[in-house]
Amino acid sequence: MAEKMTGSCKCGRVRFHVTGAIAMAANCHCNTCKKVTGGAFSTIVAVEENDFKLTGGQGEVTGYRVSDKATKYFCSFCGTPVYNQHVDLPGKVLLPLGALDDPFVVTPTMNVHCEDMLSWVPKLMQMNNFDRSPGG
Ligand SMILES: [Zn+2]
Ligand SMILES: [Zn+2]
Repeated sequence: MAEKMTGSCKCGRVRFHVTGAIAMAANCHCNTCKKVTGGAFSTIVAVEENDFKLTGGQGEVTGYRVSDKATKYFCSFCGTPVYNQHVDLPGKVLLPLGALDDPFVVTPTMNVHCEDMLSWVPKLMQMNNFDRSPGG
């Protein structure tokens, strides 16, 4: 996985690219990730900070300390989380999978903070599955 990846926020003001390999990709089930993303869990792609470059919208990025260890950076205009940094992962930038322009290129290899995993997450594919929203 040594391709060049690009990413952006929903409104397109903030853009970044990544050169170099993905260090790690994981689904994080912690309650902080639930809160800051609004989702059941968060898929995070770790890359080397030196391989990460903001290519647009630098002035639109706001940082918010979500805990004493983690800071979330998001687009001030549309609110999309663009990247995170964590003191336990020095030299790394943590990208929310959904911020990548092509999230299909990454496959997470682990689940972390499983003690906070919602009980229905392991059963996702046992639910009724529709290619699109039914009726919509
Ligand atoms: Zn935006
Ligand atoms: Zn988390």
